[in-house]
Amino acid sequence: MDSVKQDSLGFNPDELRQKYRLERDKRVRVDGNDQYLEVKGDFSYFVEDPYIDEEISRDSLEKTFHTVIIGGGFGGVLSGARLREQGIDDFRIIEKGGDFGGTWYWNRYPGASCDIESYIYFPLLEETSFIPKRKYTDAAETLDYFKVLSDKFSLKENALFQTEVNEVKWISDEKLWFIKTNRQDSIKARYVIHANGFLNRPKLPAMKGINDYQGHTFHTSRWDYAYTGGNSNGNLNNLRDKKVAIIGTGATAVQCVPHLAAGAKKLYVFQRTPSSIDERNNSNTDIDWFNAQKSGWQKERKENFEGFLTGNFTDKDLVNDGWTEIFRTILGGLIKNGPSKLVLLSWVLTAPFYKNFYKVGLRTYIRNKFMNFVTREDINKKVEIVDFQKMEKVRARADALVKDPKTAESLKPYYRQLCKRPCFHDEYLQAFNNDNVELIDTDGQGVKELSAEGIIHDGKEYKVDCIIFASGFEVGTDYSRRCGYQVSGIDGITLSEKWKDGLATFHGIHSKGFPNSFFYGPGQGPMTANFTHSLDEQSAHVAYILKQLDKKNMKYVEASEEAESDWINTIISKARNMQSFQEACTPGYYNNEGKPNTNPANNTYGGGALEYFKLLKDWRKNDKLQGLKTN
Ligand code: NDP
Repeated sequence: MDSVKQDSLGFNPDELRQKYRLERDKRVRVDGNDQYLEVKGDFSYFVEDPYIDEEISRDSLEKTFHTVIIGGGFGGVLSGARLREQGIDDFRIIEKGGDFGGTWYWNRYPGASCDIESYIYFPLLEETSFIPKRKYTDAAETLDYFKVLSDKFSLKENALFQTEVNEVKWISDEKLWFIKTNRQDSIKARYVIHANGFLNRPKLPAMKGINDYQGHTFHTSRWDYAYTGGNSNGNLNNLRDKKVAIIGTGATAVQCVPHLAAGAKKLYVFQRTPSSIDERNNSNTDIDWFNAQKSGWQKERKENFEGFLTGNFTDKDLVNDGWTEIFRTILGGLIKNGPSKLVLLSWVLTAPFYKNFYKVGLRTYIRNKFMNFVTREDINKKVEIVDFQKMEKVRARADALVKDPKTAESLKPYYRQLCKRPCFHDEYLQAFNNDNVELIDTDGQGVKELSAEGIIHDGKEYKVDCIIFASGFEVGTDYSRRCGYQVSGIDGITLSEKWKDGLATFHGIHSKGFPNSFFYGPGQGPMTANFTHSLDEQSAHVAYILKQLDKKNMKYVEASEEAESDWINTIISKARNMQSFQEACTPGYYNNEGKPNTNPANNTYGGGALEYFKLLKDWRKNDKLQGLKTN
């Protein structure tokens, strides 16, 4: 790197590259995902429901339904809504929690909110006429919205709450599914929709002495308000005389730390890797603007957002936020300024979500004749520089907002932006200016040991009344383990057995050998930052299939061998190899804790979510249930 270039950049790329490598190397561990404990046995109390007022008591149920939906989050509720729309009313939604909400039922920690714009995150806003209060919603409003959806589609009467599915088994003779629950129900269903969610199984670091700690503990997804006081808006008044430690500094901790800082007598934040924290800039909804939207606005807005993230961009950025900023800048660079800005394509190249963007971006670039020839290597180098520039700004933000220079330095992320989930928050970094807050930077090592009274790190014991685990959720473990139940299909073959060497589905929804079943989210389907968008598309698709079957008086549907194998080939051919990027990333759940996926079949649909949605739409238009064996 020559000095002129280095001076104009304000940093030395070689030094940064080296720094990134060192920071990554500190964190790579041979045990990968095995560094975490499964929350079962002695640790089951970490997944108990703290939000129910009282446990319901009901007789066990012996009944056969047209459809059973497992999971009452957005996936389950949208499926119920779409079934109702199709005139299918004989269904039950089985939900472990005490109400609808899924992720939002569990994750109601103080400060919990969503940084995907509410106008696109809340599904069916035009149907419900609901107006979100702010651009970015919070946990309380999201749970309110579940009630709106549930009332609109009369879903409560179809719900079995506080009911956990233990097993799902195909009964060949009857061509029905048998669903075993923790309430001794004997439920059968012709069709089962598995809407289990993505980040649903809390995990704990396997630390020495984890059973020895005598103080209070809980995971952020089961917040103990009886202990802390307050609610998801904060006001944790019971912590006024308490010393608290929080383990983890991911997107969840970033949102709850400011509230813990305000409430606790003393707060220790134990950090292994700092998050990248950009501005959030929330704002109140302009009601006149909202009411002036024309019919079809939400679909247009969702697709516009998704377009920026996956390559089908237009000049108009409707959502105009931190997510689209990344891609808008790239597009702006491509269209207005020519080759020099092509480097901004960097984030796209690095994002696990946005594989398609590279292809489309390059096509746009060529179409606009900004450069005659560019090699992939040139782009990679330039995009890396832009990534450095962006992360330098994020790091400068820590310097600007955190008073103590040592703490500010510890809070700076040294990795490429999309190695980990980008965070957006306007109070997190400032919380470290509070006298009662101490960042314990474990320099990539993490917390390894607990004592009876607290956390031991670097030879020092931090005595605390309470330890809060903000240590995230299982990703990359066996699908059935994450669901909490096994699915046994034709001839008793389990899903775990079928998928042990790689996913095998048709459209990411059906799997041969598991007739009359529909899955949202094991993989081979769409990947979107706006999860509710894909859940809405998938649930409408499944409801369409079920309606067609009913209309044709059919009772059986299964992916054909050929369709499944073609889909696997599609997934493989569209998967862009992210191996080298992911290997260079600091470990986290985006790269399977430093052991990136090497099986190209275990990917999401590489053509991007919009292309996937169109593919499903075209398939439905064809009206032949092509690729599915039916009778
Ligand atoms: P994450 O998996 O993102 O974070 C877990 C944290 O725990 C990481 O900081 C991790 O460090 C740390 N950790 C793990 N083991 C140890 C240890 N032994 N010692 C110290 N620290 C440790 O989980 P989150 O719950 O924060 O977020 C999960 C996802 O949920 C997000 O990525 C996002 O998709 C979603 N979410 C979205 C929000 C939003 O819309 N704003 C808000 C909250 C969550 P390391 O990084 O080193 O592994």
